[in-house]
Amino acid sequence: MLNEIDYEKFFCEIAGRLNEADDYGKVADYIPALAEVDPDKLGIHLTTIEGKNYAFGDSNERFSIQSIAKVLSLTLALKILGDEVWQRVGVEPSGTAFNSLVQLEYENGIPRNPFINAGAIVICDILVSNLEQPKLELLNFIKKASGMSNIDYSSEIADSEKETGFRNMALANLMKDFGNIHNDVDSVLDLYFHLCSIKMTCKEVAQTFLYLAAGGINPITNTTVISLKRTKRINAIMQMCGFYDEAGEFAFRVGLPGKSGVGGGIFAIHPEKYCIVVWSPKLNEVGNSYKGIKILEAVTTETNSSIF
Ligand code: GLN
Repeated sequence: MLNEIDYEKFFCEIAGRLNEADDYGKVADYIPALAEVDPDKLGIHLTTIEGKNYAFGDSNERFSIQSIAKVLSLTLALKILGDEVWQRVGVEPSGTAFNSLVQLEYENGIPRNPFINAGAIVICDILVSNLEQPKLELLNFIKKASGMSNIDYSSEIADSEKETGFRNMALANLMKDFGNIHNDVDSVLDLYFHLCSIKMTCKEVAQTFLYLAAGGINPITNTTVISLKRTKRINAIMQMCGFYDEAGEFAFRVGLPGKSGVGGGIFAIHPEKYCIVVWSPKLNEVGNSYKGIKILEAVTTETNSSIF
């Protein structure tokens, strides 16, 4: 059925349908480098596990993938430490903002899940403990998993995050006080800020995360990224926690596991079928791409292709 859909025509039609009311939201400006991005960019890319590609708009322009990268750091931490990861971070939706401090205090420094900032910082701490050269080895893992050797950190974005990352510093320090950060806070945050600074195009994101649609194997390079069992778990956490306190709404409207970032990107996967990526920088109140969710909702609803 998938092959019968002319996705490129469909994306064009959906984009054309977005009206003035859909021009809503605000580019993330709490990270100065992100505030400079053209708010009207719009890219869509879908890659099937058979390797078919469907593109629209600015899908070949690199953008800051931000929290989307947290799925890659979790994948690597699970490969290294296995289920021990779950002693340091939970698997429950937070129902709070991605950078909230409140819950962390009364839950004794154990973040609800690996996709809120606190959880991703703990994952970075795990990587710092287990890798000799964390930044280099994480990047090498991402290059290998994606099959793309030219993926890189953006030092401009990483520096910009560092300059204004007061909340992330507060989260890391609070967790350090509770004993859930084992390394020096600055080196953990350095890895975290670099992780968030990675830039990719919609097509690159789609091809990178295809392993989550294909049982842990990157079907393009035919290499195993992670086991089937852990693929199931990562997808489950994305379904429950991939969109912060809008995860329920995303499941309700789109019906696929996925992950967003404050750069305006969202990827979602349909197990055994495809990975779809949308990039539109204007964010809604909870920090997810406003148009991105609308477009994905239209795609899954009108092609009857949600997992539910
Ligand atoms: N780098 C961002 C931050 O730490 C990531 C947030 C996001 O994409 N949701 O705030």
